[in-house]
Amino acid sequence: MARRRQIYEGKAKIIFEGPEPGTVVQYFKDDATAGNGAKSGVITGKGVLNNRISEYLMLRLGEMGIPTHFIRSLNMREQLVREVEIIPLEVVVRNVVAGSLSKRFGLPEGERLPRTLVEYYYKNDALNDPLISEEHIVTFGWAHPQELEEIQSLALRVNDFLCGLFTGVGITLVDFKLEFGRLWQDDEMRIVLADEISPDNCRLWDSQTQEKMDKDRFRRDMGGVGEAYQEVARRLGILPENGQVETVSTEGMR
Ligand code: 5GP
Repeated sequence: MARRRQIYEGKAKIIFEGPEPGTVVQYFKDDATAGNGAKSGVITGKGVLNNRISEYLMLRLGEMGIPTHFIRSLNMREQLVREVEIIPLEVVVRNVVAGSLSKRFGLPEGERLPRTLVEYYYKNDALNDPLISEEHIVTFGWAHPQELEEIQSLALRVNDFLCGLFTGVGITLVDFKLEFGRLWQDDEMRIVLADEISPDNCRLWDSQTQEKMDKDRFRRDMGGVGEAYQEVARRLGILPENGQVETVSTEGMR
């Protein structure tokens, strides 16, 4: 088989040219980074789990009428998605205080917010993804006001649906990060959900014990990262066919 052209390599994924025009392949790596690359390691089997979890969540969201870039799964580590023009925003939706919100405002982690909070960060590694306002987005032309309205509305609908889905399997959806893209079809443009939704970009806590089941286990050197991702997949009822993903280990930690 001819080698595919690599379009882009990110920290956790590689994007290859797709088999048809207007498509790309997302390959999920086992690599993990935190603190904008300050810490890196390998979580064996993570790519397989994130591919599966993201596929499942994107499909369920699609069924709820949320437009996504997802087309179909190709194999254990790859999925075919529509090629979109990524909007350079990290859209963070928060239900419970954690992470940078806790640090920025000196709030204790675990406090439920009185209402869902949507924040925007400028997707730019060199600048450390700074927190921005809607004014920055419109002023710098990263998105038009109508696009931003659509993005916020989609982000809140995604949150409503995912909160219910995770609650049903004993998991609290604390917060998560979404990315959106512009999809052009016959001169028409639609905003669609892109990237991935997985324990790499969600905070998921066990509803009973508050135990962390997401990438914070890696960021905070808590261990058991792969096992936690596997448990998320198990609760969603979507473990890979053989019921497990290789040995879980973290190597190459810097
Ligand atoms: P925080 O701003 O508290 O660090 O992150 C909020 C939420 O967005 C968390 O669920 C976190 O996983 C996700 N998030 C924010 N920025 C990034 C990022 O650059 N990469 C990934 N994978 N997740 C992010």
